[in-house]
Parts: sequence; structure tokens; C-alpha cells
Amino acid sequence: MHFEPSREAAVSKLNYFINNGLNNYSKLRNFDFGSEDRSNISCLSPYITHGIISEIEIIKKSLNKYSFLINEKFIQEVLWREYWKGWLELRPKVWSDFIIDLNNLKQEYNENKNYIEAIEGKTNIECFNTWINELKNDNYLHNHARMWFASIWIFTLGLPWQLGAEFFMKYLFDGDSASNTLGWRWVAGVQTKGKNYVASEWNIKKFTNNRFKNIKLNENPIPVRDDRNYSIINNGFVNANLTNNQDLLIFENNLFFEESDFKDQSFKNIYFVFNGNETRQIKLDEKVINFKKSLIDNQIINLKSKSLKCKMINIHDIKNTKESLLALYPSVGENLDYINSSNLKNISFLYRKIDQYSWKYCNKGFFNFKNYIPKIIKEFVN
Ligand SMILES: Cc1cc2nc3c(=O)[nH]c(=O)nc-3n(C[C@H](O)[C@H](O)[C@H](O)COP(=O)(O)OP(=O)(O)OC[C@H]3O[C@@H](n4cnc5c(N)ncnc54)[C@H](O)[C@@H]3O)c2cc1C
Repeated sequence: MHFEPSREAAVSKLNYFINNGLNNYSKLRNFDFGSEDRSNISCLSPYITHGIISEIEIIKKSLNKYSFLINEKFIQEVLWREYWKGWLELRPKVWSDFIIDLNNLKQEYNENKNYIEAIEGKTNIECFNTWINELKNDNYLHNHARMWFASIWIFTLGLPWQLGAEFFMKYLFDGDSASNTLGWRWVAGVQTKGKNYVASEWNIKKFTNNRFKNIKLNENPIPVRDDRNYSIINNGFVNANLTNNQDLLIFENNLFFEESDFKDQSFKNIYFVFNGNETRQIKLDEKVINFKKSLIDNQIINLKSKSLKCKMINIHDIKNTKESLLALYPSVGENLDYINSSNLKNISFLYRKIDQYSWKYCNKGFFNFKNYIPKIIKEFVN
């Protein structure tokens, strides 16, 4: 597995997948054939997470090749990510509570034997140890492996989901506050209250092509209980006033400016905001930090070749200006936390059109959201 940190690599991965994996995606997507064979899935998440390639571009290209019917499952998965984002935007306290819980649990589990054996890949569960090493080496795991991993972490090893979510964020190139936090909550049984995801020996054997044997798991666990309820915040997601020649901040989630909804607006300077580990609550692996930095470098080269004025700045630097600044909305997560905790009232946000349109459908479950997918496609793709 190799993720080259560039827009060019993202586009070529997409083209390869459309020509080689897309037609069998719904049939084969659940198989984890191992890190040497990922042809059945797109492996685009590290790029989508950083806005190097957008959901709309992906869906458009896939529909150029195959009908909606053949593409339906793939499109649903691509928009599942959008759904999780919107769900968290409407309930940002789920993120802040996760961070608070995490900070408490980190102290408590610091020297816990099960925890240390798990993160070092030294448990007596071979498949789990393999995924730990894969995550550290490739900074990626197949979706099904993420589900099995999280289920084993919580229900067989007896560890808190929050520590597992932190571990994923640390190593994944696609680490995303919404998909990751809500993915872990879903496996634990607190996202859909009382419904947990239980990994089983037969399922792992079947979908890994019998790569693992003798998998002893707790296959009858009870869901994690969390009685907190989260009411919906009505944010509105309305764009700031746009005038020419303002400065624009771009955070790590919206890096491909050339395809953004604001590409035709003239900005005085474009600043790509680099967030290293100093300000993050969840410290990232050096490879992940370097991946982000290289993606920013790649975007700066692309924009400079089009004579746009841009440069990378450190997140601390945004505190130093008193002028009003526009920013492509960074979404609930570490970057928004930094802006809020530093009380930077001079920053106002610009939202992606697809987010403004879709997030209003994220108030209920995914099955409800799915009904609006044809509307979303009609609005943005056709
Ligand atoms: C516990 C857990 C943690 C996760 N953490 C993250 C994370 O931090 N970042 C992240 O991007 N995804 C996360 N996912 C979702 C999913 O596993 C990955 O998006 C997917 O494996 C990426 O591989 P791919 O690009 O080959 O996916 P494909 O199968 O090719 O799907 C195409 C795209 O659809 C989206 N997608 C697919 N499945 C899901 C899903 N279940 N939820 C949300 N979006 C999906 C992704 O953007 C993906 O790139 C998590 C899932 C679980 C169960």
C-alpha cells in the first residue's frame, strides 16, 4: 500500500478504480484480501478526507462510466462520509465529550496491560496483531477490518472505544473526526443505542479468504451503555460576506482549492494552515503529519503554477492577525477547536455547497438520509 501525497496520485487512483474495481464493488467490497490486493475498493479516503478529490468529482466520474444502478452502492458509501460529517455538525458536543472522555481515560489506562499489549500488537489474537502492524505500516485499514478491529478492541479486549478511536486517528492517513468517532460509536452500540457490531470468527474467516484461523472472540457481548442524549444545534451554515481581495485560510480538509466552490473569487492571499502536533488533543504519528504537510506542499506548487499568491502558515500564526479573515470551514474537529479555544472572532466561514445542502438531511439515521441521495445527485452531479 502506498499513498503518494499528491493530487495527481488521487486522480490516477480514482481512474484505476473506475476501470478495474467499480463494476464489482457491491459484490466484493467487503472482502479484505490483504494489503497487497486492494483492487476491490477505491482506497481514496486519504485524499477525500483532505479535500484533494471531492465526493462530487468521484460520483460524476463513476456515473460517466456506469449507470446509477451499478454505481448505487459505491455512491452510498461515498455519501455515507458526508452523512457522518453532517450528523456531527448538528451535534458538535459528541466530539467535545469524546475529547473530554479520552483525556480522562488516557490517565486511567496509561499502564493497563491489555491496552499496552493491544497497541503493540502483542495480543493472542493473530488477526488483530496483523491489523495493528498494517495500520502502523500502511496508515490504512480496510473498512471491514476497521469494524472487526473496533469490535475486538471493545468486546474481547475490554478496552474503551475512545482509546481505540484515538489510536486510529493517530495512524490513519484518512483520520477524520466524524467518520472515525461515529464509526467507533456505531461499533460500540452507542451511536444506534443498544445496537453493537459483533465481530465473529466465521465472518472474519470468510471475508479475509481464510487468512486467519482459530479466532477466539467474545461473540455475545452486550452493547456499551451511554445515556447521554445530544440535541440538534441549528447552525444554519450560512456563508460570510464575500468581497474581493480578502485573505483566505484553507485548513487540511479542503486542500484542492482549484475545484472549490470559491475558485473564481479573487483573494489577496491564500494561506494553507498547517496544524502540527503542538495544538492537537490527539497526537498524530509523524508519517501522518508528513503526509498532510506534503499534500499542502503539492497544492502550493499547483496554485503557484497558476500565479495565485499562496503559502503555508502554522496554525499559531492565525492568532497574530487582527484583520478579518475568511476560511473554508474546517468542520468539527481539532482545527475548529483551535479557532474556538483561541477565541478568534475575526475568522468567518465559507461552506461547501454540498455540505450546506446535505447536512439538513443528517438529523435522523442513514436510512433516512439515503432517500435524499437522488436529490443530492440531481442538484450537484447532473
Ligand atoms: C471504526 C471505524 C473507523 C473509521 N474511521 C474512518 C476515518 O477516520 N476516516 C475515514 O475516511 N473513514 C473512516 N471509516 C470509514 C471507512 O472504513 C473508510 O472510509 C474506508 O475504509 C476507506 O477506504 P476506501 O477509500 O477504499 O473505501 P471505499 O469502499 O472505496 O469507499 C469509497 C469512499 O466512501 C467513503 N466510505 C466508505 N465506507 C464508509 C464508512 N463506513 N463510513 C464513512 N465513509 C465511508 C469513504 O470516503 C471512502 O473513501 C471508519 C470506519 C470504521 C468502522
